Amino acid sequence: MNKDKIKNVVVVGGGTAGWMTSSLLAKVLGKTLNITLIESDKIGIVGVGEATIPPIVNFNSAIGIDEKEFIKATQGTIKLGIEFNNWNKEGDSYMHAFGSIGKKFPFCDFHHFWQKAQQLENGSNNIDSNSFWDYSLNYQAAKQSKFAPVNNIPNTNLPGLAYAYHFDAGLYAKFLRQHAQGMGVKRIEGMITQVNQHHDTGFIESVQLEDGTSVKGDLFVDCTGLAALLIEKTLSTGYDDWSHWLPCNRAMAVPCERTENTEPYTRSTAHKVGWQWRIPLQHRTGNGLVYSDKHMSDEEAKEVLLNNLDGKPLAEPKVVPYKTGRRRKQWNKNVVCIGLASGFFEPLESTNIHLIQTAAIRLVKFFPHNGINIEEINEFNRQSKIESEGIRDFIILHYKLNSRGDSEFWRACQRMDVPESLINKIQLFNKTGKVFCNPDDLFTEIAWQQVMIGQGIVPKDHHPLVDTLTTEQVNDLMNNLTTLINRTVEKLPRHDEFLTSI
Ligand SMILES: Cc1cc2nc3c(=O)[nH]c(=O)nc-3n(C[C@H](O)[C@H](O)[C@H](O)COP(=O)(O)OP(=O)(O)OC[C@H]3O[C@@H](n4cnc5c(N)ncnc54)[C@H](O)[C@@H]3O)c2cc1C
Repeated sequence: MNKDKIKNVVVVGGGTAGWMTSSLLAKVLGKTLNITLIESDKIGIVGVGEATIPPIVNFNSAIGIDEKEFIKATQGTIKLGIEFNNWNKEGDSYMHAFGSIGKKFPFCDFHHFWQKAQQLENGSNNIDSNSFWDYSLNYQAAKQSKFAPVNNIPNTNLPGLAYAYHFDAGLYAKFLRQHAQGMGVKRIEGMITQVNQHHDTGFIESVQLEDGTSVKGDLFVDCTGLAALLIEKTLSTGYDDWSHWLPCNRAMAVPCERTENTEPYTRSTAHKVGWQWRIPLQHRTGNGLVYSDKHMSDEEAKEVLLNNLDGKPLAEPKVVPYKTGRRRKQWNKNVVCIGLASGFFEPLESTNIHLIQTAAIRLVKFFPHNGINIEEINEFNRQSKIESEGIRDFIILHYKLNSRGDSEFWRACQRMDVPESLINKIQLFNKTGKVFCNPDDLFTEIAWQQVMIGQGIVPKDHHPLVDTLTTEQVNDLMNNLTTLINRTVEKLPRHDEFLTSI
């Protein structure tokens, strides 16, 4: 395709995507590459995106970030899971808690044992779904607002707390910028007004700034956010629109004053149309409403959002229109798009920053040596597609499984056709209690089980292995687990104490 050695990488965009990507490139390949990042203060960054999932802990450590410095600099807090309120019916609540639940068994998952224990207790299939989270260390710590790093439940081989972070998006971009510049990334401030392509191949040769400066590159990383300046406006790569499955197309964000207690979890509350996030930070709480403009006007959205804050708003609500979906090729010619330029999922499961991280890692893994090869591009794109489609199905699951009858918005979600891959998963779980994921899937069996149980599925059967245990053994297993979990949580400091200590 192009046999020139890749030496000059130009990252266009200085939001979370631009700085995370350039940090990783600098850390791993900085000795052999010149990395330049261009950003425009006039345009600014999207400035939202404040909740993450556990793999970010390893990413930060891989790029050499000190956790304490990072939490301090970004007004960060700990996140142990996402609480979903009113998603099945009004008044319901469950959590997608990170980490494990119960105990890992080699041939069948823990929830089969839990379901049997519930049946024994109630003498029927009328199980109390909420009791599933009695066996989640993350859930119990989250609801009691407690946290300290715990690798294992003491004196057992049961895993400890899995955690991620909440942080201020603006402060995170600033923090990463300093970090990346410290590793040799060159920053240029200015707005790109022209993109120059090779007349035969269409490869991008240079970008030109408002002041006439031209920046040449061998490989360009498009991190220009929703503008998608290189990948779409220049290369017309195309977009797979998934809004027929994920009907919301607008978000309205507003920060408000913090509450006294800093809960270590994100909250997602379903409303008549769409849902509202709540992200507790040290200095404020981040909030936003995700809705569909076919079912709700911006004025109505503003009223719903402002009526459901638990502190005084600190700014005017900001609207971000979007289209759910993904760029058809994440790598096209000599442009790799990362972040919002590559597509968008609503922040229901906090997956966008994670996708930045996996795309940056994939770029390093597939980094071209002597020129750009189509084989590398194709494999990179194949892996990105599989990853996004797995996440897409998991997010659709939340909408599809609702039992709310209070608006046409939710009833349409119940009726909608969903991807076959998702139907198969729901039906298998419903009939047998089994869930299978691909080894590379972001959301594992435990995540799927929590959302399906939380949104009302009681599997009609359990695994036969469970019946090899006596009633007494099943009850002992359950009692031992709750004792261990409760004892561990009892000894944890409060989340606020942990934050103060760093
Ligand atoms: C409402 C909302 C809530 C979200 N919540 C979450 C969440 O909780 N968790 C999560 O993981 N993700 C979330 N996301 C996604 C997350 O915000 C983004 O993935 C993340 O901020 C990355 O953005 P970005 O860097 O791609 O784009 P941006 O932050 O928009 O950065 C774009 C950059 O490109 C530059 N640029 C653009 N055009 C030009 C030009 N012509 N010349 C020079 N520079 C240019 C801009 O100056 C800017 O620096 C949310 C997104 C939205 C919209």
